Amino acid sequence: MAKCDACGTHILWGAVREGDFTYCGENCRAKGVTQRVVQQLPDDVLDEAIAEVHQGECPQCGGPGPVDMHTSHRVWSVLVMTSWSDHPQLCCRSCAVKAKLFSTAFSGVLGWWGFPFGLIITPIQIGRNLVGLATGPDPEVPSAELRKLVSLQVGANVLREVERRRRQQPESPVFEDE
Ligand SMILES: [Zn+2]
Ligand SMILES: [Zn+2]
Repeated sequence: MAKCDACGTHILWGAVREGDFTYCGENCRAKGVTQRVVQQLPDDVLDEAIAEVHQGECPQCGGPGPVDMHTSHRVWSVLVMTSWSDHPQLCCRSCAVKAKLFSTAFSGVLGWWGFPFGLIITPIQIGRNLVGLATGPDPEVPSAELRKLVSLQVGANVLREVERRRRQQPESPVFEDE
C-alpha cells in the first residue's frame, strides 16, 4: 500500500502524486513541498531561527522563554460517549503548567462520566499531564517538535518569498541575492 511522504499514513484512496512523491491529500502535498525546501536550507539558518523562537518571548503571555511545544491532554465523557484529545501549544513553561493543570482539572471533573472508556482514559490523560508537569521538554535544548514546527515555518516563508519574487519579476532567477 502507498504511504504518504509527508505524514506517513497509509493511503487507501485519493493519493496525490507529484514526481517521485505520493501524498494522502492536498494539505500533505503542500507540506511535502515545504519539507523539501527545508531539506535544502543550510542547517545554521534553521538552527538560528529555532534558537530565536526557543529563546524568544512566550507568544501566549509575552513573558521570557525558553519557549517550546507543550502538549496537554483532555478527556470528557457523557454516558457511553468519551472524547479525548491532545492540545499542543507553543508557550513558556509557566503557561504550560497552567494548561496542564487546567486539563488535569477539566479531565478530573468531566472525564469519568462515560462507560467504559471514561474510566480507562481519564487516568491515562491525567497521568500524561502529571508526567508532563514533572518533566516537560528540556529547557536547555529545543525539542524535536519545536525544531520541526519552526523548520516548516521557515520553509513556508521561503516558498512565499520565492512566489512573491516570481510574480514581481517573472524573468529573473529566483534565488538571486539582493
Ligand atoms: Zn499525509
Ligand atoms: Zn507564557
